[in-house]
Amino acid sequence: MRYYSTRGQTEYSRAAETILKGIAPDGGLFVPADRIDPYTTNSLPSGNYQEIATAIYRLFLGDFSSAEIAHAVRSAYNRETFDHPLITPLKQLSDKLHVLELWHGPTYAFKDIALQVLPHLLNTAVQKSGDDSEVVILTATSGDTGKSALEGFRDVPGIKIIVYYPEKGVSEIQKMQMITQEGSNVTVIAVKGNFDDTQRGVKQIFNDQRLTAQLAEKGYRLSSANSINWGRLLPQVVYYFFAYRQLVEQQALQAGEKVNFVVPTGNFGNILAGYYARRLGLPINRLVCSANRNNVLSDFINSGLYDSRRNLQCSLSPSMDILISSNLERLLFELTGHDAERVNYWMRQLVDTGFYQVDRKTMTSLQELFWSDYADDEETLLSINETYRNYNYLIDPHTAVGKNVLDKYLHRERNHCPSVILSTASPFKFTGSTIRALFSKDRYKNITEFEMIKILARETGIPIPPNLAKLEEKPLRHRQMITPREMYNHLQNLLTQPGK
Ligand SMILES: *Cc1c(COP(=O)(O)O)cnc(C)c1O
Repeated sequence: MRYYSTRGQTEYSRAAETILKGIAPDGGLFVPADRIDPYTTNSLPSGNYQEIATAIYRLFLGDFSSAEIAHAVRSAYNRETFDHPLITPLKQLSDKLHVLELWHGPTYAFKDIALQVLPHLLNTAVQKSGDDSEVVILTATSGDTGKSALEGFRDVPGIKIIVYYPEKGVSEIQKMQMITQEGSNVTVIAVKGNFDDTQRGVKQIFNDQRLTAQLAEKGYRLSSANSINWGRLLPQVVYYFFAYRQLVEQQALQAGEKVNFVVPTGNFGNILAGYYARRLGLPINRLVCSANRNNVLSDFINSGLYDSRRNLQCSLSPSMDILISSNLERLLFELTGHDAERVNYWMRQLVDTGFYQVDRKTMTSLQELFWSDYADDEETLLSINETYRNYNYLIDPHTAVGKNVLDKYLHRERNHCPSVILSTASPFKFTGSTIRALFSKDRYKNITEFEMIKILARETGIPIPPNLAKLEEKPLRHRQMITPREMYNHLQNLLTQPGK
């Protein structure tokens, strides 16, 4: 498979180079350029998670050898990295309602699935490029991505990772998860300021050509692990196939029957992987795009107008608080039959005016594949509560947004296909909201996050995930704090001082 850019101004590249570059030089996103041959019902990839992953990677990573793919899959998905033998187990709640648990990785959120394997793909890509420099991953994080990246990149040869987090802007648990991080190649630094200050500092480093050149001379190459890298999208295609496989094996449907996937959506990465799964022939009826009150995407899918001219609201599903969903650009490129000119025009409009309106034909094809609505915080809490009472199954607020929107879909469209909700985080990651949803307001007040975890486990009888249970006792390893203005010099010293 070759790749090229949604903006049409970049040469074809093979997978290794595509993953190494991350974003296309013309500012667009890389997409598969060659024909995608769909599977038929009888030829759908079979086996366990690892076997399905291997089959799908082979289609898209043509320049990786079988041994390289096998190594990446084995290193990413095993009993040490994931706490469930199926990696992404499917749970049945009722006749036509299923939940795909995507949070059995080291940090208990779905980003682990891609970030466990990306470092290995990246490492192989560097080796193939013939460039012997060491990759340095720089990440600014407002919460979950940083920890997930740290766990994925720790001790991967040939790669260093540096995570910057805003001192005021992550939760107590998130901070503890990061400052206790183990690994010989990891650095975690608190930045005085908020997420925007931190993010700006990282961007300035990336844009500084003098520093980049100086680092290149010392044998370092800067890179990011952000969610527009094709190497993060591809691993997510796998679990759609594995969910379907489990449905067939559990006799919840017959091979070939259609299913709905319900996806709590932020940057449009998870659901776009579902789109590619459908292109690969997986029998998907609708992709139900579930938004929180930052409902830019649901407005877009229903009207064809993408309008980011609104204030970002803080919701109970913070990983979905987003106004510009970057990965949508890939979908627009696909729906217009790879029309880079039109994509360029819309993306320029978005930057210049904050909105764009797609044509009727694009909107129709969008609505054939996707259905969308949103849930506010009240509805989110209600869905956590109802799901627990009706099915004795506890969900986190992101998954609850999905459940709420699925209810709306089934109510309005009267669709009879089975539905799979993609569960994107363990309820123990967002204990404040789950406790608020389950118990009366006055029952638990003024308690720390660590206490909440214990309460939730006691009240529900669900064991505390091991990495969270151990967290309080772990030694603190990263105590450094700098100002945004010091980020540049700090990095320069860290990488270029002798002995480091
Ligand atoms: C990142 C994230 C999402 C949103 O996924 P996208 O791929 O950005 O749409 C949803 N839920 C959780 C818990 C996440 O961490």
